[in-house]
Amino acid sequence: MHDIATYEAEITEEVEEEKMQDVDVELHNMRQLLQESSNIAERLAALSKERRSLNPLPGSLRKRRMRCGKQSCRCKAGYLHGPYYYFEPSRQHGKWHYVSKVRLAEVKRGISDWKKQQDIDKAMQTLEEQLETVLKEIQRGVASLMPDR
Ligand SMILES: [Zn+2]
Repeated sequence: MHDIATYEAEITEEVEEEKMQDVDVELHNMRQLLQESSNIAERLAALSKERRSLNPLPGSLRKRRMRCGKQSCRCKAGYLHGPYYYFEPSRQHGKWHYVSKVRLAEVKRGISDWKKQQDIDKAMQTLEEQLETVLKEIQRGVASLMPDR
């Protein structure tokens, strides 16, 4: 037979147990969040390292075939000269710089690095936003584990 005091004690115990489980769940969540934040940080570091290895050249490559104007030339019949390549900087539209065949591969690589850099920047921005969200959740978790005041 239970008297009221024992009954109350049992209820208190149950509540304490529930609280403990909540703490366990919260700690488990926190561990996962910390793991997630460290994964994101690692990916950010890898992207940042890749970004530093790039040699970006902002702009695009233009290709042109031309007529020289000589009456006797084959270009008169449509067999145009070229192709000739020009580099157009992204910040100076219309300003074309001639690219010699020797430098063509280098310029192409620079443009491709520039595009890669833009992709990396986008990916890093997304990861930074994710990291911010995870860190906020961790902050909330820490606050919930603090004793009530
Ligand atoms: Zn010609």
